[in-house]
Amino acid sequence: MKNRVLKEVLVTKEQIQKDCKRLAKEIEADYKDKEPAIFLGLLKGCHPFMTDLLSYIDIDLQIDYMDVSSYFGGTTNSSEVKIIKDMTLSVKDRDIVIVEDIIDSGNTLKKVIELLKLRGAKSVEVVTIVDKPSGRTVELEAKYVGSVVPDAFLIGYGLDYDEMYRNLNCIGIPKDELIKETNE
Ligand code: IMP
Ligand code: MG
Repeated sequence: MKNRVLKEVLVTKEQIQKDCKRLAKEIEADYKDKEPAIFLGLLKGCHPFMTDLLSYIDIDLQIDYMDVSSYFGGTTNSSEVKIIKDMTLSVKDRDIVIVEDIIDSGNTLKKVIELLKLRGAKSVEVVTIVDKPSGRTVELEAKYVGSVVPDAFLIGYGLDYDEMYRNLNCIGIPKDELIKETNE
């Protein structure tokens, strides 16, 4: 399916839902005998994935959110990470599953994981709907990965360009005319 804003679809709506169901089963198997874990969504990109993934998970759990930023609306990442909104639950002695839209450099997640461990989390794992391993600048591996994608700027299913296109039900490469020249 070609989209009005995408020049190429990399992960279809069907593939995303298949990935969500598979990841949900893997997580269920790993957490069913533990105390309820906290599923920590990183805003705003986690939004559609968090909803779909959790709808397929049939164990007790808690939800919380954090808004961190390493990324300021353009198409490249900065190594700065700042907390815009913190979570409200205590992570002390809790199992945490961070829910991410994409892992690129890994910088944001590395900082968040360090922070959660510093606050006394018992365990921290990561589930992401797409992984861009070619973008990694720090050592970081997600335990639960939906689809692996090539090194391209992507939009859809939570991923934005300039706060737009998060609502697409698939993930792909935006049409060239969508991307404004930011380094003129
Ligand atoms: P990282 O710290 O480089 O792993 O990426 C941090 C955040 O940048 C991700 O959680 C996304 O919100 C955003 N990001 C990374 N790659 C893309 C992309 O291709 N499109 C849109 N947002 C992205
Ligand atoms: Mg994100």
